[in-house]
Amino acid sequence: MNENNFKRSLRNTAAVVVTSFIVLIIVCTAMGMKIRDIVDVHMEEHVAEQGQMISRIIDNSFADELRLLSDATVFVDLENGSLGRIFSEEEGISYGVLRINGEPTVGEKLDFREYEGIFEAIHGNASVSCSNKSDKVLFAVPVYNGANVKYVLYKLYDSSVLAKKIDISCFGGKGDCVITDIEGNIILKEIDSRIDKEFFEEKNNAEAFGRISDKMNISSIAASRSKSPYGDNVLFAAETDYSGLYVMGYVPAEDVRGDISLIVPLVLWCFGLLWLLLLIVTVYLIGAEKKVKESDELLRAKEIAEKANKAKSDFLANMSHEIRTPINAVIGMNEMILRESGDKNVLEYASNIESASRNLLDIINDILDFSKIESGKTEVVESNYRLGELLNDVVNMMEMKASDKGLNFEVIVDGNLPSGLCGDDVKIRQIMLNLLNNAVKYTAKGAIRLRVSGEDVTADSVTLKVAVEDTGIGIKEADKNGLFEGFRRLDLEKNRNIEGTGLGLAITRKFLDMMGGRIEVESSYGEGSSFIFWVAQRIIDTEPLGDFEENYRKQKEVDYKYNQTFVAPDAKILVVDDNQINLLVVRKLLEKTQIQITEAMSGREALELMQSNRYDIVFLDHMMPEMDGIETLKLARKQDGGMCRDVTIIALTANAISGVREMYLSEGFDDYISKPISIKQLEELLMKYLPAGKISFCIEKETVAVPEEEPANLLDYNRGLHYCAGSKEVYAEIVKMFCDSYEKKCVELETYFTGEDWNNYTVSIHALKSNALNIGAGKLADSCLELELAGKKIRAGEDVTGHTEFIEKNHEAAIRLFGETIKVAEEYLGRTK
Ligand code: ADP
Repeated sequence: MNENNFKRSLRNTAAVVVTSFIVLIIVCTAMGMKIRDIVDVHMEEHVAEQGQMISRIIDNSFADELRLLSDATVFVDLENGSLGRIFSEEEGISYGVLRINGEPTVGEKLDFREYEGIFEAIHGNASVSCSNKSDKVLFAVPVYNGANVKYVLYKLYDSSVLAKKIDISCFGGKGDCVITDIEGNIILKEIDSRIDKEFFEEKNNAEAFGRISDKMNISSIAASRSKSPYGDNVLFAAETDYSGLYVMGYVPAEDVRGDISLIVPLVLWCFGLLWLLLLIVTVYLIGAEKKVKESDELLRAKEIAEKANKAKSDFLANMSHEIRTPINAVIGMNEMILRESGDKNVLEYASNIESASRNLLDIINDILDFSKIESGKTEVVESNYRLGELLNDVVNMMEMKASDKGLNFEVIVDGNLPSGLCGDDVKIRQIMLNLLNNAVKYTAKGAIRLRVSGEDVTADSVTLKVAVEDTGIGIKEADKNGLFEGFRRLDLEKNRNIEGTGLGLAITRKFLDMMGGRIEVESSYGEGSSFIFWVAQRIIDTEPLGDFEENYRKQKEVDYKYNQTFVAPDAKILVVDDNQINLLVVRKLLEKTQIQITEAMSGREALELMQSNRYDIVFLDHMMPEMDGIETLKLARKQDGGMCRDVTIIALTANAISGVREMYLSEGFDDYISKPISIKQLEELLMKYLPAGKISFCIEKETVAVPEEEPANLLDYNRGLHYCAGSKEVYAEIVKMFCDSYEKKCVELETYFTGEDWNNYTVSIHALKSNALNIGAGKLADSCLELELAGKKIRAGEDVTGHTEFIEKNHEAAIRLFGETIKVAEEYLGRTK
């Protein structure tokens, strides 16, 4: 995610959080108010119920009083209104009997106007009334004489006594209440009650009682909250059923609220928590959505990357084909020049072309290998192999390069190593060659050494330890870290003339990583380096490897024999390639074998030929327009009545990416040979797949004899052959030409030398050097090189006297060496001079 996206998403999340917080505050405030209202209503209801309870207590108490009084009427003497039983007189309570005219027969005389209840009783109703003058409550019941009321029996209470008796304490004593009549006059109240006229008249209380009175139009009980100087109270009123009196009072809001009040913060907390949870979920969801978007983006990016990668691989495969095809043509045609030209200059140019082309191929192969590893297409392919053969190949390939540079090449192999191993020998070979090539490249003089030994040997595995040592330029301590990174080249100043891509070591490290191996480097700058790698291999054959050097020598002898040209005039092969030059190359390479070669330039043409002709081998190019090699192969294999359904078909392709061999074999090809075609490999394939009866070796055609002993340093047969693409005929031709030019060359050199014509002397000695190199006359080439360098220095005006002296001192020795070399060469040609 880029920085802008990150900032944007941070802003979004912050906005969500702030908005949520504001909404939370508003909602909580509104909810708090609402809950408070609800709590108030609940409190009012609660208090009203309390009032109703008190009103019931009063009703019941009054009813009890009246019932007891009614029962007591039997003690009233109807004749004279006296009381037959003495009622115990208590403080604040008095009894009496009144005639219906108001005159008392017992007790004090009561004023009818003061106590309404007297009237009620005279009219036959038991009643409770209070004095409108004093704090007294009157209970009065009629006393009947037959159907008529004759007396009134009463019981008169002091309010305070009655209040105590009835116990009108409110809300467990926390509240306060009074009993009033319909007009609001207080009839009964507790002694310490705070309720009085002023209480009712206080503004807020009066308003609250107004609300209560409204509610009481529809209910017998009502309550309302009031905040007044008397405190925050819930006021209430309840109508008694029986006496027509009212209970009015208050309870402090705080006491009513009790635990209910806790509900408010509790609910707010719960709500807040829920909100917080919601917020977290929302933020999480935003994040998740973002992630989904991101992963969408990632998926898209991955798709694009995969497409790009595929395009890269396709590009590389094509590039491999496109570049290797023309190089194939260049190398192939060049090989023709090397074989057929007699002109020594042309031969020199051609051999330069060859080495440049091979270098170019190496570079392309490195790039392809590296790209393939990068795109994960390289796999470890294990197979059984002979360790001796692997080392032979490696040493064979390096020997020449080392000696070309005048380096000693030592090979020290532990003879106890098992001879048959299983592992990815192709990669191990490539690693060894990378390290050895570097050793040669970065060493100007001295030696390179290859040591192969084993560690951690068990019954079925061994860790190969391979050390490649050199006496070259070495690596600075500080450079060692980045050594194995791709495209990394060190010491560019010093190495600018040395070709390289900086990929070899990166490929080496990656291959070893893939195989579970490792590599280390030891080096002292200016003195030399040692690259050591370890890789575990399974043991297939425990038979010890034995003396490597001896085996190697024997193997070479076999190689010499093998290099002898064979002929197979009865053999028929079909070569299919859309590129005419490639066809020509194969034809020319095989000219001397007399094999009958048929050519086809397309898959279709090849199929037509295969329909009615039988070939011993078909070489089939992969990349062809219209129908490619794989398609052609598949059609040929099931061609109705085809003559080549079961013949050996070998893929011939410029596709160099490693691993293609396996691909071709799995597609159904019998073998694979990559372009540019190595004549050795091509001949190997022919020998392997042509029917044995059709091959005959033609040793007699060989014009030269293979020397028993290598002619010391004077003439290196192998090296010379290498410059002649392995062709002994060409080599013999060149050696012959070299010998024939001897006298002329000597005269030429002597003339320039005595005439001190250093310019021409340098040109002439340079030519002799190249010719000597061409035939493998390393020693002569070296001494010519020294003279040439000195000549060049004179030309450049550097230390003219010193270099002139050098030439004067060494010229004769060089001419002598020339003569000795010629002698060996003449012997080689079987001529005597
Ligand atoms: P290159 O194609 O440049 O040789 P490598 O990956 O093989 O690429 O090597 C990377 C760099 O490591 C080289 O450019 C060189 O500077 C250094 N190097 C490799 N091998 C040696 C050696 N044997 N001696 C000195 N320097 C070496």
